[in-house]
Amino acid sequence: MQKFVLLNGKEFSVYEDSIQKDVCMIDAGREDLVVSAPGLGFAGELVDSKDGKTYVFSRLNHATAESLRKLFPWTAPSRVLGRDKTMGVGDRLGVAGDGHIRVFKKFPEITPILAQQSIRELTLTNRTFADVLDSATFAVFRNGFTTGWGADGDHVKTAEEVEYALTSGYTMITMDCSEHIDNTIEALSSEEVNKKYVKNAELEALYLGKSFDIGNGVTISFDEDLFRRTVLIYAEAVDYAEGIYKKHVAPGGVARADFEVSIDETMTPTIPAQHFFVSSELTRRGVKVATVAPRFCGEFQKGIDYIGDLDQFEREMRVHAQIARHFGYKLSIHSGSDKFSAFPSSGRETQGRFHLKTAGTNWLEAVRLIAVKDPALYRGIHKYALEAFKEASKYYHVTTDLTKIPDIDTLTDAQLPDLFKNNDSRQLIHITYGLILNLKDEFGRFVFKDRMYSLWRTYREDYAEYLFNHIGHHASAILLK
Ligand code: ZN
Repeated sequence: MQKFVLLNGKEFSVYEDSIQKDVCMIDAGREDLVVSAPGLGFAGELVDSKDGKTYVFSRLNHATAESLRKLFPWTAPSRVLGRDKTMGVGDRLGVAGDGHIRVFKKFPEITPILAQQSIRELTLTNRTFADVLDSATFAVFRNGFTTGWGADGDHVKTAEEVEYALTSGYTMITMDCSEHIDNTIEALSSEEVNKKYVKNAELEALYLGKSFDIGNGVTISFDEDLFRRTVLIYAEAVDYAEGIYKKHVAPGGVARADFEVSIDETMTPTIPAQHFFVSSELTRRGVKVATVAPRFCGEFQKGIDYIGDLDQFEREMRVHAQIARHFGYKLSIHSGSDKFSAFPSSGRETQGRFHLKTAGTNWLEAVRLIAVKDPALYRGIHKYALEAFKEASKYYHVTTDLTKIPDIDTLTDAQLPDLFKNNDSRQLIHITYGLILNLKDEFGRFVFKDRMYSLWRTYREDYAEYLFNHIGHHASAILLK
């Protein structure tokens, strides 16, 4: 490893992959710094090195990230969603970039969306879109990852949130239409549906009683009941997505970012004909989507494998994928963390054109690292998570059974990492992350957060290896054999 030696003899290790002409990143112990020749636009402290030259030492703040993005365009996100294979790997904590990039250097056919955060995640981690983007820029620079990556304003719901992501430099918008999807319709009888339905002559002429042959042996048709239900559930969501797209994402017809429409955060699965209706309507109205995320059958719960009938999943995946191909976009698979049994058919049926989103699984790996390296700290986190679970479960659909988690006081330190093989235990830690990170004592100091970050800093090489293996397992499972 190359050393950067100061005039006073102090030495720093240089990250080999970060070395560019006149700029590199060094490990300064508790933090990393960008070192550059003067005059390249970096603000910071002037330092004399042993080779007789003066350099600028810059902390990893927003100004430094902006300077990097200006000087090295590949450290800025770009619109990559049109590539065949993309994978969103949100880095909630801002420490997962090195491990993630290691995966995509091994699987260069998949392009990552390295910055990917929802408003809920920003709030729970006290971060901003800018901060999340900057962390990704630093990881990209540190690792010399020059082949492109994206930034996703994930599950944004309002015009303000869309603008917030776009003005922060995000290259993808995931438009969450869930608040405009009527979840009460699915359970209604045909008579009740008929009563609720308000005649829409335009849509009736287009869909009612019609059949659509979309190729590959797939025909979509709407009888009266399905048509009325579909309109009642999705018509408003389509209107909403169209309005946001035209006013904010593509004003004047030129898109400022890749646009994904997400209808996955709903109570009931999107049946293929409904997916067809949404896409057909978006297309007819001139909304150009890069991806659509339906809610698949079965359950895609956080941080654990697929729950449900895999044959049915594969059959429906085939139709969803054909609908996407028919309209010329990619299928987006959300809540993709750890859905190992569903990946092979997803890769096959999409014919290798997909967007796979994972998010919280890198948090679970980060906490598993704590269980390995600092058992006492993990025990404290685990006990607090049990107390906080009820509060956290208001925001997630999970079927966690806390009684299936062994009493941590009966486990030896060496047994603690095995808790991450237990689905109930995984979900316990998965959904309580915000409360764990934010817990403060009576003096206003963080109970866990600072110790956790300091451990992640110390063992960052181990964490990168954990992610390389775990996220790498996702990548290899969805790639066609
Ligand atoms: Zn989603």
